[in-house]
Amino acid sequence: MGEICLVSVGAVDPPLLEYLALILGETLHCSTRLEPKRLPPDPFYDPMRRQYYSTRIVELLSNDYGRKEEKVLGVAEVDLFIPILTFVFGEAQLGGRAALLSITRLRQTFYGLPEEPERLYHRAEKEALHELGHTLGLVHCPDYACVMHFSNSIEEVDLKGDRFCVRCARSVRT
Ligand SMILES: [Zn+2]
Ligand SMILES: [Zn+2]
Repeated sequence: MGEICLVSVGAVDPPLLEYLALILGETLHCSTRLEPKRLPPDPFYDPMRRQYYSTRIVELLSNDYGRKEEKVLGVAEVDLFIPILTFVFGEAQLGGRAALLSITRLRQTFYGLPEEPERLYHRAEKEALHELGHTLGLVHCPDYACVMHFSNSIEEVDLKGDRFCVRCARSVRT
């Protein structure tokens, strides 16, 4: 694994980005940096859905952000969608360089509950690792404890672990 460039998609809480940069570097044994240039998500807003088109943002991240040798991880505060789904927590290019996650639905406040910053950070860490795992060529994993397990709801995000299982970790290395 080479380097990871984190991009703020719109305004995102800087301490969260700094936490992700730190924890991803440690977990994936690579260097990370925060890209000073933000990606404004406004052109990707769908007024009918009141959400942002994830796939287009991933394309822009891939084409215009980061250095050639870097993986690019966009972090968005806005809610994301792809046309066939009501929402996505994130999206990534399988075996490619760009990944994206939204923290909107990782916040307890989205579900009418009081904010829990530690829980939010842990969820964001899992989803960031998950999407970056896709850029490393990993597909969804049947192991419930593996961070590459597919999560369709916030309960499933909480249930899965925050690391690659042995099998996924092995296939990342090779
Ligand atoms: Zn996935
Ligand atoms: Zn796995």
